[in-house]
Amino acid sequence: MKFLPLGKKLTIAIDIDGTVADSSGIDFNKADDNPNELMKAVPRAGAVKAVQKLHDQGHTIVFHTARGNDCKKVTARWLKKHGFPFHHLECEKFVAHVYIDDRAVNGCDWKKVMQEVRKPTLPGRIARQKCQI
Ligand SMILES: [Mg+2]
Repeated sequence: MKFLPLGKKLTIAIDIDGTVADSSGIDFNKADDNPNELMKAVPRAGAVKAVQKLHDQGHTIVFHTARGNDCKKVTARWLKKHGFPFHHLECEKFVAHVYIDDRAVNGCDWKKVMQEVRKPTLPGRIARQKCQI
């Protein structure tokens, strides 16, 4: 069991691809051989400003991604290049199509979860159809 520090400030885990980064221009198959492919991502509207604000408010910013540790350096470079402040970068997030988490901003209302998982527009379902991880 890992414990978070007590206090008013939060530790906020933020996903990268699709959350702070528009990664539609990345060929993830190429990224295995050439991690610089990941530099093609562009920040999503409002993401930099929002993360900067959370950081300025004193929260601990942790980016977490399933890109893998081979991509850690280039991912850190991308975050810094675009002005995303962070305290820690975790690149070994478990890969799944759907994450259900009671600490997610969207919460864990099971009725809503079951409705969302069935939707054809579910981001994980779309990624699966496109054969993305
Ligand atoms: Mg994502």
